[in-house]
Amino acid sequence: MDYQALAELLFPNVTDTPESLEARYPLRQLPEGAVVTRMAPSPTGFVHLGNLVQGLTAERMAHQSQGVLFLRVEDTDAKREVAGAVEVLIDTLKHYGIAFDEGATHEGDAGIYGPYRQRQRAAIYHVYAKKLVAEGQAYPCFCTEDELTAMREKQEAAKDNFGYYGKYAMWRDRDLEDIQGQLAAGNPWVLRFRSTGSIENQFKFDDLVKGKLTVTENDIDHVLLKSDGIPTYHFAHAVDDHLMRTTHVVRGDEWLPTLPFHIQLFKALNFKLPKYVHIGPLMKMDGTSKRKLSKRKDPELALTFYKAEGFPVEAVYEYIMTLLNSNYEDWRRANPDAPATEFKFSPKKLNPAGNLFDYAKLTDISKNEIAKMDAPKVYELLTQWAEEFDADFANKLKADPDFATAILAIGRGGKKPRKDIATWKEAKPYMGFFYDEYLEAPQFDQKFSNDTVKLALSKFLEKFDYTDDSGVWFDKVKAITEEMGFTTDMKAYKADPTAFPGTVADVSTFIRQAVTGKTNSPDLYTVMQILGYDRTVARIQAVMNTL
Ligand code: GLU
Repeated sequence: MDYQALAELLFPNVTDTPESLEARYPLRQLPEGAVVTRMAPSPTGFVHLGNLVQGLTAERMAHQSQGVLFLRVEDTDAKREVAGAVEVLIDTLKHYGIAFDEGATHEGDAGIYGPYRQRQRAAIYHVYAKKLVAEGQAYPCFCTEDELTAMREKQEAAKDNFGYYGKYAMWRDRDLEDIQGQLAAGNPWVLRFRSTGSIENQFKFDDLVKGKLTVTENDIDHVLLKSDGIPTYHFAHAVDDHLMRTTHVVRGDEWLPTLPFHIQLFKALNFKLPKYVHIGPLMKMDGTSKRKLSKRKDPELALTFYKAEGFPVEAVYEYIMTLLNSNYEDWRRANPDAPATEFKFSPKKLNPAGNLFDYAKLTDISKNEIAKMDAPKVYELLTQWAEEFDADFANKLKADPDFATAILAIGRGGKKPRKDIATWKEAKPYMGFFYDEYLEAPQFDQKFSNDTVKLALSKFLEKFDYTDDSGVWFDKVKAITEEMGFTTDMKAYKADPTAFPGTVADVSTFIRQAVTGKTNSPDLYTVMQILGYDRTVARIQAVMNTL
């Protein structure tokens, strides 16, 4: 077979050469050890935790080595493409601190290794496709769907492996005339790789996450170009990662089964193989067993979920770092205030089997992160969140920023800041009572008669002096307790609860409920200070009128 003639026949218009492409995309001038890597998502519009895990890994590896992180859009599957998906992806990742140095942007492409959208690179793939054909490493296949189905049935009957390989590869060794005939008839074709591998052979491969792997050679003549001339992922990523001078491919381990084919392709194309970082899946406990997080079943897989719940970016970032590198938490304890970028990230520390996603832990981390923020920052982030997800609450927060900030300052600062909320969504249930419209009617403990509650409240109003400090304020509550025959001696009460009608805790709760509508609230003295004398008294009186 005259492969050169075949190459001309299939790609008459391709005049570029691999050499000219090498010159067009020069080697990068970067410091020794710099990692060049990328995110290469398909623009399906669904941005998930896995993207963030992969993005953070790639970002840390690139930027801590003074390398490059770029965004390549793998849009070869037009059917799955969603309009605006690239923009959503860029914005979402930026929200989490992942900024690209080059690649697709809102305004088009930035960087000299572009275009960064695969459909615009068809001509580039065809140069290499032509080369492979000219070398006898690829060939056109005119199989119809029916023929492929028949092949499958035959394989099933013979208990052979499925796939287009060996004796089943109908177009592998066809004459030039046959091919010309098909082309002349205008029949569609795909370009297939001519595999020289055998499943009898195994070889070793070193993955930066998975470690040493023994894999089986690929014997399938995989499709390189589809009938519309658009490449498959396999072929496109090999060409792109080579020309874009990628040193490390960071991707999900769902690509491991096709890795032998990828290695084979890099060899066939005479490309240096990049290092691979195959990340395991995110899993969750489902009953007593683990399973992969699923788009269909688990809303927490989508990154939009965390935004809507109101997890601060810092919290999600911290959590993912603890997931990715087992030594991150120790480092964080030793360096509580250092920027996360100072941590020495290593792909070798990733769990090869993937990670269990622990929502409770994220919540815990988030509580800590919010507790660390000062009140103006909490105000700013909470308001931003509310503007998008709870407009009414946002309006209240914005109507009196000083009032809101004073509320948010409760228990903040100091050695042991309070950890009241884990998400911005929890802020309204926590502090909403400060706003009259969100105040709920108290449900007093049925153990106490209305008269008892009313008596405690009226006594409090008699004694209430807004200028008291918290010590005097509490002494008054204790005095009321005694006057009512309740006890301030919690020990004595515990020893014999029947000896007293109630305790100072009950009296405090009556007042707390009258002022906040709830049995739990931040420090009641401070609440009253922030609410002011008039509103505190008005609230207590209003409740007394209902008793
Ligand atoms: N487009 C592929 C995906 O979304 C990219 C894999 C890779 O990073 O190479 O899974």
